[in-house]
Amino acid sequence: MKRKVWVVIIITLAATGLVLKGTPSQALDARTVAPASSAVITSTVAPRNIILFIGDGMGTEHIRAAGMYQHGSAGTLTLESLPYTSTMTTYAADNPVTDSAASATAMATGHKVANGVLSIAYPGDERELETLLERFHTHCKRAGLVTTTPATNATPAAFGAHEFSRSYYNNIANDYLTQTRPDILFGGGGYGLNPTNAASAGYTVVLDRASMQALTPPLTGRVSGQFGVTNLPYEYDYFVGTDPGYTTLPHLSEMVTTALTLLENAPNGFFLMVEGGRIDHAAHANHITRTVFEVLEFDRAVAVAYTWALSRTDTLLIVTADHETGGLRIIANNGAGNFPTVTWTSTGHTAAAVPVYAWGVNAELATQVHDNTDIYQLATAGLSATPLCTPTPVRIVTFRGRPHFDVPTFQRSNGRTLKR
Ligand SMILES: [Zn+2]
Repeated sequence: MKRKVWVVIIITLAATGLVLKGTPSQALDARTVAPASSAVITSTVAPRNIILFIGDGMGTEHIRAAGMYQHGSAGTLTLESLPYTSTMTTYAADNPVTDSAASATAMATGHKVANGVLSIAYPGDERELETLLERFHTHCKRAGLVTTTPATNATPAAFGAHEFSRSYYNNIANDYLTQTRPDILFGGGGYGLNPTNAASAGYTVVLDRASMQALTPPLTGRVSGQFGVTNLPYEYDYFVGTDPGYTTLPHLSEMVTTALTLLENAPNGFFLMVEGGRIDHAAHANHITRTVFEVLEFDRAVAVAYTWALSRTDTLLIVTADHETGGLRIIANNGAGNFPTVTWTSTGHTAAAVPVYAWGVNAELATQVHDNTDIYQLATAGLSATPLCTPTPVRIVTFRGRPHFDVPTFQRSNGRTLKR
């Protein structure tokens, strides 16, 4: 029985590309992985608006490479101009190398979970862990999730779903539509989400750039942007003309522009999570061209939010990553307009620490962030002193708690049950 379980785990790791490569000192034994950070980040003030950018798989070298290509030198991206910085560890509860589900859960809930798990205390008592999206909803803030992957993919799902596996796409979509109810859900469609089930749940559905940009504030209901039925295209492929997708589909920066337009007049402020989801995909494939272009579009999206926030005094902007992908190392800067010469040491994720950048209310506390669970504390610092909302301009999520055996069988993706 035990042996069978390990076979399943190994096959799963291999299939998802989570192959740990590195020196023995880097390859910590999972049993010796340290507990979550003991940092306590507090504040007497709370931002009205919280914007969290996550570059999936975006390590320090990915950022430097993009700066070299775009401006001729590292350290030149907009995200790098945010005034407060740190680096943080990303390990999962069961593995020194995290996947996106465990790392996003750590940021969304402040708890370490096993790879593949979405905001459920596993290992642990298997309760649903309240996410930033749910917590901010209890303070009547609006909340949006924006990504370049399908909207039900692991990173946004950790903020808006509670599932034992990131592959339970139908369950994740059901959690969005019936339980956590993000006010804005922009990304690729498919994978459990479709125009019919979103509309039935009361969402306005938009399918392309034009219909997205035709949305007019104030946002009174909820909106689901389903841009295609899989990932958004690679920016590089559009640049070189091999994928025309962005002729009609919105770039990440355009999704952020619309999201801010719809959210900025929310009576009690908002929480917005934005993921650059395909940096990771390009880095898995060791494609420096696609990696650089994905980081650059992510940086343009950050610039949209930073420009918007700079005219205000009530917003916290955080930019970070969930893990490093590819073991990227830059060998030579080849100047602006040329891709740097690089090496890759992996086609999977690594245990490398990732950077954190912050600007705005409580941003100085970002220097205390040393682990991904600290992001939850940074985002919610001062929040407990602010009132829960009455009356409610938006629906307050019922934090209902759901043991895993309570999930209706018909909702399980592919009829599979999770073995462990
Ligand atoms: Zn990955």
